[in-house]
Amino acid sequence: MNQPPLEERYAAVKAAVADACRAAGRQPGDVTLVAVSKLHPVEAVAAVARLGQRDFGENYVQEALAKQAAPLWAAGGACADLSVRWHMIGHVQSRKARLVAGAFASVHSLDSRKLADAMESKLAAEDGRQPVLIEVNVGEEAQKSGVMPHNLLEFAEYAVEKCPHLELRGLMCLPPVFDAGEKARPHFARLRELAQMLRSRLGLPLAELSMGMSGDFAAAIAEGATTVRIGTAIFGPRPPKQAAR
Ligand SMILES: *Cc1c(COP(=O)(O)O)cnc(C)c1O
Repeated sequence: MNQPPLEERYAAVKAAVADACRAAGRQPGDVTLVAVSKLHPVEAVAAVARLGQRDFGENYVQEALAKQAAPLWAAGGACADLSVRWHMIGHVQSRKARLVAGAFASVHSLDSRKLADAMESKLAAEDGRQPVLIEVNVGEEAQKSGVMPHNLLEFAEYAVEKCPHLELRGLMCLPPVFDAGEKARPHFARLRELAQMLRSRLGLPLAELSMGMSGDFAAAIAEGATTVRIGTAIFGPRPPKQAAR
């Protein structure tokens, strides 16, 4: 089956995000679209960046850093005039924390003390800062990463007290149901409620709710997403993952 061209897919996603905002009584500008470019070549990122997209999400540390370093964005490169923001949305092993800390507009996947500590020590040494979101395991799935809801308050308190170079901005989730549209909605509602609980307990704004993907972003926006992470609907199907990254 032929795919519509990238430009059409991107325009359709932008329009669908704006529609979902209007349906929820929200302004389209209230929701940031992160285009998830994992496993797609940096040329595809550049093509979407030229259409006006600025925020890109990556899952694998080496791949993300290689894309950031592409000559495309550097002085004299074809996209040198575009200031692209990179988001780390995949699980980060603590041994890779030093590569990640300070290198992203936001890390959406803070999920353990070990990772928080490792990022903190790197940032403290260079007096850097890293905006982060805590990934919450809203479906309480044993095989998935993310902080369990019953551990969230304690973990957030730890991050705020012990990791002053991490700037905690909010929460992120991946619901247990995939491409499920409205069925994912209770999980998004739960993330919103957990953020509200944390705000009142910690007295922090924690304004960011990163939730919603190609198959369920409208439901996420209805429940208050401030950031949606959309890959397939923009870039088409992902090429298979080759080696470990
Ligand atoms: C891959 C990925 C996405 C994008 O998923 P699509 O279904 O392709 O839109 C969003 N968030 C995370 C954490 C991902 O790993």
